[in-house]
Amino acid sequence: MSQTIGAARLQLGHRASVTKTEGIRSTTYHSHWRLYSLGLDRRPESGSVVLTTRCGHCGTQVRVEVDSDAAMAQKRSSRRTGGRLLVVLAVGLVVLACFLGANGAVPGIAGLFGLFGGFAVAGSAKTYLGASVARDQAAAVRNPHRIFAR
Ligand SMILES: [Zn+2]
Repeated sequence: MSQTIGAARLQLGHRASVTKTEGIRSTTYHSHWRLYSLGLDRRPESGSVVLTTRCGHCGTQVRVEVDSDAAMAQKRSSRRTGGRLLVVLAVGLVVLACFLGANGAVPGIAGLFGLFGGFAVAGSAKTYLGASVARDQAAAVRNPHRIFAR
């Protein structure tokens, strides 16, 4: 049974600033988040609910989707499965590319991208908090906000 994250720990984060650090060869960006409690004490019994919360930093109304424990476990497992499936498909493409030799560049490259994508999706299954900023909102609302658990 996967571990659940209590609703009371869920917080809405607003990206307040981004620090740019110039290195010798690379530049790294570090986001600073301001966190505000969602004020939830429990998750829904089943399915998912969308609640509207006002960001404590910018005052924007943000819709947040919160999953029940069961819905969260289900989403985690489908991401894991989806990610693994993508990895299997990508390996197939790379193998195909090896058979095709010089003509295999396109499936080979697609396969490599698929591998990275598959691992990224499968990896995100573990960190999914069972809550997210609802996708059906303007990018200006979605982009500076993220859900954290503390
Ligand atoms: Zn905000």
